[in-house]
Amino acid sequence: VPTDVPLPPSTTQSEGLFARAKAVTPGGVNSPVRAFRSVGGTPRFIREAHGAYLTDADGTRYVDYIGSWGPMILGHDFPAVRNAIQAALLRGTSFGAPGEGEVELAELVTRLTGAERVRFVNSGTEATMSALRLARGFTGRNFILKFRGNYHGHADGLLVEAGSGLLTNADALGAAAPSSAGVPAEYAALTLVSEYNDPDALDALMQERGHEIAAVIFEPVVGNAGVLIPTPEFLAALHRVKDRGVVLIADEVMTGFRLSLNGATGLLGLQPDLTCWGKIIGGGLPVGAYGGRAEIMDFVSPQGPVYQAGTLSGNPLAMAAGLATLRELEADPELYARLEAYTTQLAAGLKDLAAKAGVPLTVNHVGSMLTAFFVDAPGGIRTYAQAAPSDTKAFAAWFQHLLARGIYWAPSQFESIFVSAAHTDLELNATLEAARGAYKEL
Ligand code: PLP
Repeated sequence: VPTDVPLPPSTTQSEGLFARAKAVTPGGVNSPVRAFRSVGGTPRFIREAHGAYLTDADGTRYVDYIGSWGPMILGHDFPAVRNAIQAALLRGTSFGAPGEGEVELAELVTRLTGAERVRFVNSGTEATMSALRLARGFTGRNFILKFRGNYHGHADGLLVEAGSGLLTNADALGAAAPSSAGVPAEYAALTLVSEYNDPDALDALMQERGHEIAAVIFEPVVGNAGVLIPTPEFLAALHRVKDRGVVLIADEVMTGFRLSLNGATGLLGLQPDLTCWGKIIGGGLPVGAYGGRAEIMDFVSPQGPVYQAGTLSGNPLAMAAGLATLRELEADPELYARLEAYTTQLAAGLKDLAAKAGVPLTVNHVGSMLTAFFVDAPGGIRTYAQAAPSDTKAFAAWFQHLLARGIYWAPSQFESIFVSAAHTDLELNATLEAARGAYKEL
């Protein structure tokens, strides 16, 4: 149980592993945000994870709010998922030929989401990259449009004004507008950028350039600039792009099966042409997917002329983990309400404790996603520009104080945390108690 004045947990083993990792891997990590660059300190090397907890190489247990950045909605090591993976393992790990698991998961995903066709890939990045190629192939147009601070994975054309690690590591990239070296300017020029939650800007861009634009891709609830919730006016403007023959692509890699069985799309009453999934759809194994209207999806090879393939796509272990996860979500109709109740109490507690400690805080949350922005924004935070003034130094200090008290929060101000079904009142109370101590120390 976290105490008010904790002894900082030992990080000897993690430090040793980090030193070894840095010698053989760029920055010592295989995905940038894991490096703790924006909060400082040693990233914890995780030995195992069960339920709502991570255990690091030094044997310290943490209440986990990362949830592997989204997939672990049921908590770690969920028995039905583990059993499904074990059973699949005994039948073989990869066939390079179709199998029943792919059919079953595709049938379940189409039934839950209303997509008419779905294609499995290995990551969210592959899903968005493939969906954009498909939209270009379908429309014969070259431009795409995305929103500032939205993140859709690391395909070249999407690393323009992107969120997530690109916001966190913006300084390291030496760019005022976050982007990436290695993306040709000529290619990035095919990506138009508009402001999230600004329907007038979107309408104006569509009026001027709509006939050249293959697709508009967006996060239906943003997680990658911190949590941002779309306004009804913005959602209406998104729907209007379809009138110009533009393919509307909802990137539900983070929100799919997390905010409801039909993601943010179901929650908000959206009707995209195509949807991208990842994270939960693979139950903790590497899976992505894209799907939607048959008329468009049937342009994908071998049915149509848009090429897309994958040695490990539809991998039997990954399909088994995804199926077990989605089946569990469907079998527990109260689950989403429970997740939301926990998150709502967490938000209320954080705001209350921050106010008592005189710390400016604005909390955005929906379902089991939450960001505590260290800024006083009485009008709310709806865009990255409104989130940007957050006090990232105060956040970093708060993060370290939480970590010292056994709470593993997302190591960046501009990320969502994820609550899982394994989080109970015990973890909620421990988190709020730790947060109280952490605010006091700021
Ligand atoms: N799209 C969104 C909305 C995401 O949050 C992410 C990852 O965080 C991606 C795409 C990329 O997915 P992956 O990391 O599996 O490539």
